[in-house]
This record gives sequence, C-alpha cells and structure tokens, in this order.
Amino acid sequence: MDSTNSALLYETERGVDAVDDVQRVLLSEEEIARKVKQLGAAITEDYQGKDLVLVGILKGAIIFLADLMREIKTPVNVDFMAVSSYAEGTTSSGVVRILKDLDLSIENRHILIVEDIVDTGLTLEYLVDILRSRHPASIGVAALLDKPDRRLVDIIPDYLGFSIPDEFVVGYGLDFAEQYRSLPYVGILKPDAYQDA
Ligand code: 5GP
Repeated sequence: MDSTNSALLYETERGVDAVDDVQRVLLSEEEIARKVKQLGAAITEDYQGKDLVLVGILKGAIIFLADLMREIKTPVNVDFMAVSSYAEGTTSSGVVRILKDLDLSIENRHILIVEDIVDTGLTLEYLVDILRSRHPASIGVAALLDKPDRRLVDIIPDYLGFSIPDEFVVGYGLDFAEQYRSLPYVGILKPDAYQDA
C-alpha cells in the first residue's frame, strides 16, 4: 500500500472510532444549520451599518464562527482569542489565562464574542471584563450552547443556539482532549470514552 492509501485508511479508522465513542447525538447537523441561519439573520438585523468585529474563542468556536459569519449579511471583521479555562478533562480548573490575544484594535467598534459553550460562565465573564477595558462601542455574546444548570456567574448570551442539559458534549468544534472536533453534530460521549483517557 502506498503512503496515500495508508493515510486514507488511518483517517477512516479514526473517523469510525470517533463515532463509536458517541453515546447519543444531541443536536443534528440539520438542527444546528437551521439555528445558525436564524442567529445570523438576527445579528444581520441588529448590526446593520455598524462596524462589527466577531471575536472567535479558540479552538472550540471555530466551526460555529465559520458557519455563523457566512449567515451574517453585513460586513464583518474577524479576530481570535485563545484562553485556557479547562485542563485536559471535563471539569473546570477555575483558571482563565490568555494564550492568544486579538490582533485588531477594538476601540469604538462593536464586538461580538463567539463562544462554543457557556458552562460556569467564568470564561465569558473574564473575557467581557478584559475586552470592556479596551473601550469598544459595545460587547455582545453569541454562544452555540448554554448549560444554565452549571452557571456560577450571572451572564446570559445575547444570541444563543441551544440550552442543553448538564452533559459533557463534543463535536461541531468541541473537543475532549483535542479529539472529536470534526464531528458534524453535537453528541454526548460514552462515559468510558473519557474515563479511559
Ligand atoms: P466556563 O468558563 O463557562 O465554565 O467554560 C467554558 C468553556 O469550557 C467552553 O468554552 C469549553 O471550552 C469548555 N466546556 C464547557 N462545557 C463543555 C462541554 O460539555 N464540552 C466541551 N467539549 N467543552 C466544554
């Protein structure tokens, strides 16, 4: 077998493994696409004629951001931040640290933070505080998922895809130990998929 074929086989085996680790699909590709379209339409209406910067939070928000920005029919700039909020596990470390900061200036511009999931809300609260100190015209939050049962601080996304139960989810950008981000849906992992990790 040449190297191209063995690479393909490897990808295929990993794909099957990933699907096998999912206990249940919580949100299908179609449900997510419908919701992202609605969110994009609402954002388009609200930010018409405004200087809008989408701030994607790496890495979990990349797929949501990529889909959402194409549903926003008004000009947007895009930038990214990376923060660490969780260690490689399923529980919060309580530590939030900036790993990558914005490249763009946000002074007097309208900022929309794009997050994959709001859990305790600590990450978002921290980000909003940091970005507010840079004097943007406004700060909003678009989150694909929300786990309201786990909230420790009083923060509500302005644009929300789905409220979900307190389960650890992966797919559509969300990972467990850097795996499963490329699944096209949001699913709940089988407990043994992370207990063995
Ligand atoms: P918070 O600071 O709100 O507790 O945590 C937010 C971050 O925790 C999210 O951006 C995400 O990286 C991670 N997180 C929280 N819940 C989940 C989950 O169910 N699955 C995954 N993959 N990450 C989660």
